[in-house]
Amino acid sequence: MTSIRNVVILGSTGSIGVNTLDVIARHPENFKVLALTAHRKIDLLFDQVMKFTPRFAVIDEAAAAKQLSTRLQQAGSATTVLHGAKNLEEVAAHAQTDTVMAAIVGIAGLRATLAAVNAGKQVLLANKEALVTAGPVFMEAVRAHRAALIPIDSEHNAIFQSLPAAFGGDLKAAGVRRILLTASGGPFREMPLEKLGDVTPDQACAHPNWVMGRKISVDSATMMNKGLEIIEASWLFNATEQQIQVVIHPESVIHSMVEYIDGSVIAQLGNPDMRTPIAHALGFPLRIEAGVSYLDLAATGRLNFLEPDERRFPCLRLAREALRAGGCAPAVLNAANEIAVAAFLNSQMRFNQIPQLLEGVLESTVNTPLRELADVFDADRRGRYGAEQWLMHHAHAGNAVQSRLTA
Ligand code: NAD
Ligand code: MG
Repeated sequence: MTSIRNVVILGSTGSIGVNTLDVIARHPENFKVLALTAHRKIDLLFDQVMKFTPRFAVIDEAAAAKQLSTRLQQAGSATTVLHGAKNLEEVAAHAQTDTVMAAIVGIAGLRATLAAVNAGKQVLLANKEALVTAGPVFMEAVRAHRAALIPIDSEHNAIFQSLPAAFGGDLKAAGVRRILLTASGGPFREMPLEKLGDVTPDQACAHPNWVMGRKISVDSATMMNKGLEIIEASWLFNATEQQIQVVIHPESVIHSMVEYIDGSVIAQLGNPDMRTPIAHALGFPLRIEAGVSYLDLAATGRLNFLEPDERRFPCLRLAREALRAGGCAPAVLNAANEIAVAAFLNSQMRFNQIPQLLEGVLESTVNTPLRELADVFDADRRGRYGAEQWLMHHAHAGNAVQSRLTA
């Protein structure tokens, strides 16, 4: 690489944020951190600011910003501390920003990620919920502002790497028959179905292959993560729902594949470590060292593949239905899922009630067209409201879970 790139990390204290800083720290001659942002983890943000000396640090609340600012000044830091959602958008779109790592979790990341897109930045997209909820608006903004979008989600990054370099959004022209999206199946792939009502948040977050934030970990256990990824892939690669097949691959060594009309299947392999897709995107089109241990195929020995069981993982079907329904259905599904996951993590509902809640909300919420961003936020509100109503009506079962878990 020739010139130094100014990077903004939205969500620097999360799992993707920390991994991004790990890769950047290996290449101080290529990257400079312009801004770091966090929701609440003030101690970690303080340490990151001291190490990477960004021009800006953004934290959600004013009181936390004041505290952080005082601590940084005492430590001799020159970083400007800002707060609030508006400032996330400001740093993402800042004139000095070259690259934005969008790694906030949930629809909370949508506005700042779009701000980066609208400013024509290079956007490294980890925040899949932005595409799931606002797909058509988001992709239109990417085209209109010529933003360079590189997927960080390991599957989508693998697909990106397995497509022709000149891929311009036309799968047919590229000779692609299908996208094969791999999934580990999460921690409950083999658990007897009748036991799924008793699993705890910590069990759900103990992913067999990946270390991730708690929300995406629960999504992996329900396989809603794969459902969201089907929707994400449909927007990124202009694929229909039928062109995306999910394959369970418990070892998480193949990160996804592209099948071509001549029968070729191109895959991207590697150890399950998010620093690989992060380094790929940061260095693109060049390759840079990521600190990842290299894949030892002989030690891996065996790679297995199986069909997903939709009885065990109803979320896969629900996500496909939302994608087929189109309009704001994916945004409603995503909102209800954010509420459901939070309720499960707070022991307010059982694990196997998550798909029940989602199905109930999708059935009771009118689908509306998605024309502009306001439609997305309206659908988000309706999805959250529907989920809260569902929780109220099923509160009895939830309370029973809580008392049992705390007994
Ligand atoms: P995480 O929970 O570990 O981190 C989330 C980050 O977002 C934190 O820095 C937090 O401070 C920030 N944040 C949370 N709520 C916020 C709010 N309201 N406003 C501003 N900032 C807020 O999550 P993660 O696992 O790093 O995942 C981040 C995103 O990347 C998610 O969309 C996830 O689906 C996606 N992703 C993650 C992985 C992974 O391996 N962790 C893999 C693929 C995709
Ligand atoms: Mg993924």
